[in-house]
Amino acid sequence: MLEEIGGILYFDGCNTVELAKEYGTPLYVLSETAIVKKCSDIRDTFLNKYKKTRAAYAAKAFLTPAMCKIIEREGLCIDVVSGGEMYTAIKAQFPAERIEFNGNNKSIEEIEMAIDYNLGRIIVDGLDELSLIEKVCKEKGKKTNILYRITPGVKSDSHDYIVTGKKDSKFGIPLDSEIIFPAIEQAIKSELVNFMGLHFHVGSQLNDNSSHLKALEITLNIIKEIYLRYGFITPEINVGGGFGIQYTNEDDRRSYSYFLDPLMEGIEGFSKELNIERPEVVIEPGRSIVGEAGITLYTVGTIKEIPGLRKYVSVDGGMTDNIRPALYHAKYMGIAANKASEMKTDIVTICGKCCESGDILIKDVQVAPLDRGDIFAIFTTGAYGYSMANNYNKNPLPAVVLIKDGKSEIIVRRQSYEDMIKNEVI
Ligand code: PLP
Repeated sequence: MLEEIGGILYFDGCNTVELAKEYGTPLYVLSETAIVKKCSDIRDTFLNKYKKTRAAYAAKAFLTPAMCKIIEREGLCIDVVSGGEMYTAIKAQFPAERIEFNGNNKSIEEIEMAIDYNLGRIIVDGLDELSLIEKVCKEKGKKTNILYRITPGVKSDSHDYIVTGKKDSKFGIPLDSEIIFPAIEQAIKSELVNFMGLHFHVGSQLNDNSSHLKALEITLNIIKEIYLRYGFITPEINVGGGFGIQYTNEDDRRSYSYFLDPLMEGIEGFSKELNIERPEVVIEPGRSIVGEAGITLYTVGTIKEIPGLRKYVSVDGGMTDNIRPALYHAKYMGIAANKASEMKTDIVTICGKCCESGDILIKDVQVAPLDRGDIFAIFTTGAYGYSMANNYNKNPLPAVVLIKDGKSEIIVRRQSYEDMIKNEVI
C-alpha cells in the first residue's frame, strides 16, 4: 500500500506530495482499499468461518458518514458510545438494528435516542442503567435488547489508559456475586428488555491473546452460573475489540485468527460440555480496521538544532491532530514523503506546533536531511487521530481525504477559523 516511486512516497496509488499540494496540510489520508481489506479479513477468519457471529466496528476509532457507508457495504455492524456517534451513523442511514450502544455514562437523552431509533443492542455498563432503560421503554411502549458489560478483573499488557478490563476500572459491572447476579436476575425477569448476554472489553492495542482468554474463562463461568441458577441459556457473548496493530517494528502484528480461534474453541467446548446451544459471538474491532489504513501528511517548518543534544523539526500539526504520543507515549514511524529514496542520515525529533513541551510526534527518528517545506508523512494514524482531534491553540481540524487506487476525494473538509468560533458568543 505504501511504496516509493521516483523518490516520492505513494499510498494506495496516490502521490502523497501531490495530495499535500492539492488539499493542504496537515492532512489525514485514509485508504479505502486498506479498510476494505481488513473487513474482508474479518469475514474470512471469523464471520464466514464461524456461524452465529457478528463484527461491530468500534466507531470511536474513526467515524464520519463516509466511513459508515464503507462499514455498511462491508456487512459489519457499528458500535457507538455517544449520542453524537449514534447521530452520525443514523444520518448516514446506517441500519439501526446493526448499531450497538456502549458507554459508561449514557444520559437519559441518549437512552431515549437509542430506543427511538430502535438500535440493535444497548450494552448496559452500570447498575442503575437498566432501570433508566426500563423507564424509557415503558414510556415509549417498546422493548429493547440489552447486554451487561462486565469488568472481568484481568490485567492486560498495554498502556494503563487503554487497559479497561482490570477490576479498578470505570467500565463495566463488578463481578462480586452480590452485585452481578441480582442485576442479571432483574434483566432476565424484565418485561421491558430482552437480556441477550455479557460483554467484556479488556483493553486496546493488545499483541497478546492471554487477557482475552482469561476474561473469556471468567465470563463462561458466569454464564454457567446463570444457567444453573435460572435455567437461562445466555444467547450472546461480546468479546470486545483491542486487537493490536503494527505502529513500529517493536509491535508484533497478530492476525485476527490468533485472537479469535482460541476464543471460539473455548466457547464451543464450553457449550458442548454444558450441552447448550453455543451463544452468538460478537467482536468490536476499531483500531485494527482503520489504524494502518491512515497516514498524516505535514509540512516541515522551523528546524532547531541544539548542539550535541537534539534536532527539533517542527511540523504544522501536532497533538491537536494526534494526541496519542502526548497522552500515552504512543510511538510512530514516518518519512519525508518528497525524499522517500534519500539516505536517512539524520536523527531528528518531529514536534508539533502547540504550546506544550509534550507536543512531540516522534522522538529521535532516522530521516533524510529535512528542510523547511518538505512533506513529512507519519504512518498508522488512521485510528484515534481524527476522532481525538481538538482545537488546542485554536488550530483548525485538518481535512480527511479518502483514497483508492490512485484517486482521492475529500470526506471531511478542513475546518476554517470561522468554523472554530461560530458557537462562541461575544
Ligand atoms: N469496544 C469497546 C467497549 C471499547 O472501549 C473499545 C476501545 O476502547 C473498542 C471496542 C475498540 O478497541 P480497539 O480500537 O482497540 O479495537
